[in-house]
Amino acid sequence: MNSKKFIERKTKILATLGPSSNTIKKIVELSKAGSNAFRLNCSHLNEIELQEYIKKIRRAENILNKPIGILVDLQGPKIRIGNVSKDQNILKKGDIFILDNLKEIGNNKRVYLSNKKIFNSVKKGHLILIDDGNIHLRITSVKNNIIRTKVLQGGVIKSNKGLNLPNSNLKTSALSTSDKKYVKISADLGVDWIALSFVQKPSDIKELKRICNNKISIMAKIEKPTALKYINEICEIADGIMIARGDLGVELPIETVPGWQKTIIRTSRIKGKPVVVSTQMLDSMTSSLTPTRAEVSDVANAVFEGADAIMLSAESASGNYPVEAVKMMHKIAFSTENERNYNTILANQIEETPNTTPDAIATAAKTLANELTSPIIVCYTESGSTGIKVSRVRPSQIILTITPIIKTARKLSIAWGVLCLLQKDEKNLEEMINSTKDTVKKSGLAYSGDKVVITAGLPLKVEGTTNLIRVTTVK
Ligand code: PEP
Repeated sequence: MNSKKFIERKTKILATLGPSSNTIKKIVELSKAGSNAFRLNCSHLNEIELQEYIKKIRRAENILNKPIGILVDLQGPKIRIGNVSKDQNILKKGDIFILDNLKEIGNNKRVYLSNKKIFNSVKKGHLILIDDGNIHLRITSVKNNIIRTKVLQGGVIKSNKGLNLPNSNLKTSALSTSDKKYVKISADLGVDWIALSFVQKPSDIKELKRICNNKISIMAKIEKPTALKYINEICEIADGIMIARGDLGVELPIETVPGWQKTIIRTSRIKGKPVVVSTQMLDSMTSSLTPTRAEVSDVANAVFEGADAIMLSAESASGNYPVEAVKMMHKIAFSTENERNYNTILANQIEETPNTTPDAIATAAKTLANELTSPIIVCYTESGSTGIKVSRVRPSQIILTITPIIKTARKLSIAWGVLCLLQKDEKNLEEMINSTKDTVKKSGLAYSGDKVVITAGLPLKVEGTTNLIRVTTVK
């Protein structure tokens, strides 16, 4: 069972691993500090490294004896520049800078682009933005796989950074050949979530689901204006959503991102899909022990909006203070959730409930638990869907999901308020109720005389069948 600290916080923390956090010891420390799941960013990992990270997380999971989720984040059709020398890497306004297809280390004069389609897609006058829009280039000519540009906004150009073309129409498929290799590794090693970058339309998700044989949960990263047009359909088909604010803030006018964040969180919550807010949440903590006031507010805002999880990127992957960043995120989320307005703000944001039996049961479980001042809602779940349905209504009670399947427990690690316990299936309803009473009492989650609300889907092994609700009293 998780320690009290993790039970107390409802919003989950997803920490990206990287050079600052690539040992089992560090992964354990990050987990103890409050990280519920880890993200592996394929843009910065080769296939061997990906496998090593997955194995290290599983070792940490054994040491801690608690389910830990793994999200493998595919690069998708994201364009990245090649490597750049660390000595000659400053671009100044007015400089001439070239992007070409020479596989040589770049500098402040030129850099390699591996994506051949760019050379035929861009035109004189188009903008090129590098590193989440930190560097702005204007194309002055395109000839023989050489793009000449003028630097409009300079900065330090670093290896492997993302490149956006807001004016150009680049026709690429949702999954590259290398993405497919990462998907295979993820499937072989039992990864829980795969995030697809630069989703544009619902069929992008369908393609990935087909490749995964529907065995891995798919998270759609929303970072393209076209995805916003289809946000309802994408939320419907994906298992989870990530608001990838880095690229979203480059592809869209940056001032529109907070509004879209609210819209995407609400749409995901209405559809009952876990939603993650990502990028630059505590960015200054890559090099400072204290976040800015604005960053604290940003994290708190995502918590008030009812995000399922909040994510650390460079802060935990390559920053100087990965553990401190997780601890800070925990403190901000915990404090926000204890703010007197939190529950009413959460409740006011979800305007619609899908008209299904599982959703009606989840709403009824919350109402019953409130009326009976019950401290806990227990969900028996195989696929995790009962847990996610109850999480969707954001009850103030603890949501204890009980499952015999470790994969389900790991998947639920990013779902709001869900605490997971691995336990073999009960034979019948009577046993389920008796075992619930024992478990909640032994774990200190409820005391003698407390009423406990139980939900489940019967028959137990069928997904999406949440159809049972019971109340029992702890002896
Ligand atoms: C983002 O763009 O915000 C994001 C999370 O994706 P990546 O880190 O791959 O750029």
